[in-house]
Amino acid sequence: MHELSLAEHVIRIVEDAAHQAGAQRVTRVRLAVGALAHVEPETLQFCCTLAARQTALAETEFVVEQTPGQAYCADCRQDVALERIGFPCPQCGGFALRVTAGEEMQVLDIAIV
Ligand SMILES: [Zn+2]
Repeated sequence: MHELSLAEHVIRIVEDAAHQAGAQRVTRVRLAVGALAHVEPETLQFCCTLAARQTALAETEFVVEQTPGQAYCADCRQDVALERIGFPCPQCGGFALRVTAGEEMQVLDIAIV
């Protein structure tokens, strides 16, 4: 499953960051995934909890937020909101779109004690 390998990646990033910060415990991790990243926020959240089970992050709360997709339309020469890859430009109906945001996943912040 795509989300599970992503989640394992997240766990490693957070473990490293927590270790470097000298944290005893990570209470909360906030993630953001783009709407065009082919990742369901609910599924990623579930997979993070699953992947954290046998780790120091077993008690950590994972929060996943979705950031909107955005593309540049070469036809109407402006940035437009894009709900999904393959959808036409919501302004002109054209397909001359270049995705500018929404395909990424990032760790927003980590709460430690
Ligand atoms: Zn357009």
